Amino acid sequence: MLYEPSGYDPNEWPDSYWRASCLPLPACPPLQGETQAQVAIIGAGYAGLNAALELVERHGTNVVVLDAAQPGWGASGRNGGFCCQGGARLDADQITRCFGREAAQDWDRFEARAIARVQDNLTRYRIDAQTTEPGELALAASPRSWARMQAAPVPEGGALLDRAELRAQGLNTAAYLGARYVPCGFGLHPYAYVTGLARAAQAAGVRVQGDSRVTEIVPHGDGWRLRTATGAVIARQVLIATNGYSDESLVPWLHRRILPAISNVMVTRPLTAAELDAQGWNRSLMAYDDRYLLHYFRLLPDNRLMFGARGGLSFQAHSVARFKQRARAEFELIFPQFRQVETAYSWNGLVCLTASLAPYIGPVEGAKGLWVALGWHGNGVAAASEGGRCAARGMMGARDAPPHITRKPPPRFIAPRKWALAAAMAVAGVMDGPLQRHD
Ligand SMILES: Cc1cc2nc3c(=O)[nH]c(=O)nc-3n(C[C@H](O)[C@H](O)[C@H](O)COP(=O)(O)OP(=O)(O)OC[C@H]3O[C@@H](n4cnc5c(N)ncnc54)[C@H](O)[C@@H]3O)c2cc1C
Repeated sequence: MLYEPSGYDPNEWPDSYWRASCLPLPACPPLQGETQAQVAIIGAGYAGLNAALELVERHGTNVVVLDAAQPGWGASGRNGGFCCQGGARLDADQITRCFGREAAQDWDRFEARAIARVQDNLTRYRIDAQTTEPGELALAASPRSWARMQAAPVPEGGALLDRAELRAQGLNTAAYLGARYVPCGFGLHPYAYVTGLARAAQAAGVRVQGDSRVTEIVPHGDGWRLRTATGAVIARQVLIATNGYSDESLVPWLHRRILPAISNVMVTRPLTAAELDAQGWNRSLMAYDDRYLLHYFRLLPDNRLMFGARGGLSFQAHSVARFKQRARAEFELIFPQFRQVETAYSWNGLVCLTASLAPYIGPVEGAKGLWVALGWHGNGVAAASEGGRCAARGMMGARDAPPHITRKPPPRFIAPRKWALAAAMAVAGVMDGPLQRHD
């Protein structure tokens, strides 16, 4: 594992607003003794639980899901709740150049389907995830990026908004010069969503076992044997859906193929109507800026502001505290009228990057029946949900179910990954320049 053990400790729940504001899922018991299943899934986040639901509902498969902690302990229970496009770091031109035009269209369709999938899950499994108004806002943080935004075609149903229009629409900040609105996606309560999926999976007959870290996967007959501290599963097929929390020693093939990175979130106390009016920000639209080390934020249904920032290289207390301080200063620069508003919760977690800049949904080379679905590049609410479903269909024989760009195994990172990440962040910081007020 790339970071300090504290970042992976299943007994350490984050100081998360989501968990504090949602009925907890009754603890899923650990695996006891030896059991059999057609498919064993490692990881009870969006990817693993969606795969389990697909397998049991569409294929009548006998499924066990194992999590080292409890469902939603990973990124799925602690993210910003932006259900939006994304999942890869490749843009349409790069996809077209590397994989062809059809692959770019295929990825577009996947992104749209992924958002629809989350909506469908919420409806079908009756999950109240406090969804917000639809659409998202990409904010321009510099004159150059605003000029670029104005020169680019506006997507269908979208709009360009300058500072005056942003102010008129209740989207006023001190830091951004304009924005592009895209009418897709919505905000949700991420922990309510993932625990709702876990309940639905249990109701459909999936065995969801918590406190069951898989410590070994070995070939067994024509399948696999997975070991935990208190039991074992013998399964024909296995799906590894552990994303940023993956233990690379479990499967040597995985070693150095992923780059877990830290993302951070803070949530304020509820803002008063007067505070919101003073700032001129009172919409629940999802918003993010176009910096490499981006900020993302949205107003929650109880008028708290959720504010996220990418960055940080360690889970050590002093490093986390330093990053928190920086994120708070940036929050105050963007929203000067909220300067006096306390941070009520703040936490972090791991996302998963790959050197191919795309997720991987496919088999582990040379290991029959062993599949992987991960690498959502910090945008997995929608992508991991649909990606988990694609993995399940692929394991059942539909090899073309995963989108084209996700079928190529990511190459291994060659440089020491923490150094590479530190260097990439330093370059990103220089390219971004300091965040500035433009009011
Ligand atoms: C702070 C933060 C903010 C984010 N904001 C957004 C956002 O707003 N929008 C968005 O789209 N995405 C966001 N993301 C990313 C998104 O949350 C993830 O891409 C997504 O949740 C990944 O889901 P997953 O099921 O693949 O993995 P996870 O939800 O991370 O689940 C992996 C699970 O695997 C388990 N596990 C690991 N090893 C083992 C083992 N050996 N045995 C058993 N279990 C194991 C872990 O306990 C964990 O529960 C954010 C992430 C973070 C951390």
